Amino acid sequence: MTTPSASGPAISIRNVVKRYAPAGKGTEGKLALDGVSFDVPQGSIFGLLGPNGAGKSTLINIMAGMVMKTSGEVSIWGFDIDRDQRNAKRAIGIVPQEIVFDPFFTPYEVLENQAGFYGVPAAQRRSMELLADVHLSDKARAYARTLSGGMKRRLLVAKAMVHAPPVLVLDEPTAGVDVELRRQLWELVSRLNDEGVTVVLTTHYLEEAEQLCDRIAIINHGRVIADKPTRELVEMARDKVVVLTLDRDLATLPSHPAFRKAERTGDRMIEITYDKDRTNAGEVLSLVQGQGLSIVDVTTREADLEDVFVSLTSNG
Ligand code: ADP
Ligand code: MG
Repeated sequence: MTTPSASGPAISIRNVVKRYAPAGKGTEGKLALDGVSFDVPQGSIFGLLGPNGAGKSTLINIMAGMVMKTSGEVSIWGFDIDRDQRNAKRAIGIVPQEIVFDPFFTPYEVLENQAGFYGVPAAQRRSMELLADVHLSDKARAYARTLSGGMKRRLLVAKAMVHAPPVLVLDEPTAGVDVELRRQLWELVSRLNDEGVTVVLTTHYLEEAEQLCDRIAIINHGRVIADKPTRELVEMARDKVVVLTLDRDLATLPSHPAFRKAERTGDRMIEITYDKDRTNAGEVLSLVQGQGLSIVDVTTREADLEDVFVSLTSNG
């Protein structure tokens, strides 16, 4: 393993901005990251969450040294990616979002080539051991093109671990993946983490992040809108939302200590987000009726990641 980062964070990201080059004359390039900062604690499983287009892959590709940031600072395992590029690269293993393999190499060759690329001496190579870790021993000599999608994903994880980096980053490992493979990948990630590897994964499934991650950062439109221990974030998603249509406009929005938010969402419509451990829909309805209004229609739903986004962005 690479040496430094005895006590600092596994990854440190400070004010990172990325503006892609404009597609044509007179157009502005896309601002994919707008001043992103957070730390990934050593030994954690860290979730980077956000909807499509939020900037997750851009950030990961910057960590991997595959995309140039416009400004800001990133260090991996204590190595600045600009000043100490070589060590920074050695400290991180990346499982990219897209699966790309030369179809004529075998899994064993894929790992040996990668080891060669990182200059891992023959005596320190662990190709067969890594294949066993990802349950691909029996496919060691098969052509990569004959592997199923799930096997390819697992091979990519092994490939990312060839140089034994202390930090493993997986970009959307479970997007479009079936339940069984998802379970296998989670198991693999948890096992590596138990062995001391710091893991960063991106996903747009809150539930997935909830089960696996110790800490979650949410990114939206290139900005971090939350960076919290999973437990705290999940509590925010435990809210319930009730949408009411009334017979006429409300003079004042109802208030209650258990309401997180009450807002007018349209003509004679209000939406109330409340903590379901502290009140219930019945109580919400009677509060509104107490103002002498009739309720024409009611719908309720559980808050989802979208609501967490909304409440986070509106709270500044
Ligand atoms: P995510 O991984 O969260 O879905 P991305 O980092 O892929 O988001 O994309 C963030 C934004 O940057 C999107 O608006 C996307 O269209 C844009 N983008 C990504 N890659 C490029 C590129 N190579 N050139 C121009 N714009 C890009
Ligand atoms: Mg992406």
